[in-house]
Amino acid sequence: MAEKIVILGAGESGVGSAILARKQGFSVLVSDAGKIKPAYRQALLDMGFDFEEGGHSESRILEAQTVIKSPGIPEKAPMIKLLHEKGIPVISELEFGFRYSRAKHICITGSNGKTTTTLLTYHILQKAGLNVGLAGNIGQSYARQVAEQDFDYYVLEVSSFQLDGMYDFRADIAILMNITPDHLDRYEYQFQNYVDSKFRITRNLRPEDSFIFCGDDPVIREEMAKRQIPAQLLPFGFDQVYNPGAWVENDEVNIVIHNNPFNMSLFDLSMQGKHNAYNSMASGIASRVLDIRKDSIRECLTDFQGVEHRLESVIKVHGIEFINDSKATNVNSTWYALESMKSKVVWILGGTDKGNDYSVLHPLVREKVKSIVCLGKDNTKIHESFDDLIDIVVDTTSMEEAVRTAYYLATEGDIVLLSPCCASFDLFENYEDRGRQFKNAVRNL
Ligand code: ADP
Repeated sequence: MAEKIVILGAGESGVGSAILARKQGFSVLVSDAGKIKPAYRQALLDMGFDFEEGGHSESRILEAQTVIKSPGIPEKAPMIKLLHEKGIPVISELEFGFRYSRAKHICITGSNGKTTTTLLTYHILQKAGLNVGLAGNIGQSYARQVAEQDFDYYVLEVSSFQLDGMYDFRADIAILMNITPDHLDRYEYQFQNYVDSKFRITRNLRPEDSFIFCGDDPVIREEMAKRQIPAQLLPFGFDQVYNPGAWVENDEVNIVIHNNPFNMSLFDLSMQGKHNAYNSMASGIASRVLDIRKDSIRECLTDFQGVEHRLESVIKVHGIEFINDSKATNVNSTWYALESMKSKVVWILGGTDKGNDYSVLHPLVREKVKSIVCLGKDNTKIHESFDDLIDIVVDTTSMEEAVRTAYYLATEGDIVLLSPCCASFDLFENYEDRGRQFKNAVRNL
């Protein structure tokens, strides 16, 4: 009888895993505790998969030799606990897909900047003519691509939840952007657990592989001092000359690997802001490791269009620029948004607070923010943190109201910045919905 694989969670990664598992000859059951999205439900039906929703049938799941878990399901879910008790391996989609892929993998993780760096790296590799796929937390699932069209290279955005289910997976190039507190609810409120999870990106690296990481990041630096990682170490940052690696000096970006230098002006990078310089350096190093031509890299770092909802400039209305940074769902990403602002800011923030400590923003807020528009169900913490610092801190309850209020408070030459520091689930479906509503409200002014 065929070995049985159970897939928990019927989203993008679950359906992709089902397709790959069937192709590899496993018997497959897909089980979702909630309601399956109509498109995925239809796909499972069309392909004749055995699946269930609205609950897990325990006895059928415990027949599995291997379980593939969606990254959205926490470790503390009763079914996962039970599987661990029974000794049934629970892995992630990336772990599973990797078993059947011969590609080279460029894997990007970190608390912030994953999507941007992943898309930028993909842009460079694709333009250089490599046969490259894009996956992980983005777009079509990795497992599905492995099943249907295995590429020579993959650029993968890897979340800590995926990393937690990775054991034998090995990146050829691993990139760690930064580590700041996030998702601590999934890590027993122990920061070190989250740090360890991020460092799983370095598991199984060999001397011929590369580890690219932010040398300026204090958490990463401290962790590197404790660990021996048997790969080529390629840090990047502003704080010192990272050679081999990448650094900025006199407004020049330098990338040096094997004494072979690449440089370009910081001002020629299409994505501005210090955080984006980090992202560009990380992608640039990875591309040089893959021996992509310098001219080609330079061109891509100059023409990359950026990513929706990440410091996305929407329009100017009467000389007031509106910027959509809805994806800034934690304090660190908003820090970089404020840091990169070149004019006075009317700042829209708020939403579901994930245990934010706003005090790290105080110096930048004092320097750049002229008024604050709160947009959340409960704005108490924002008032506590900023009322003494900023004269005008107003509450609003819808995006339309927030945008109108910000527009009223701003004058020519100012910026209205939506960079919420918080998740969006109190008033919006998700951060994309929040960003879209912002853009619509701005266009309707
Ligand atoms: P992720 O996929 O890790 O959430 P994104 O690229 O989607 O990262 O960016 C999320 C937010 O963080 C955006 O507000 C963006 O402007 C900001 N950001 C992007 N890169 C960085 C970085 N290297 N460090 C800190 N913040 C960043």
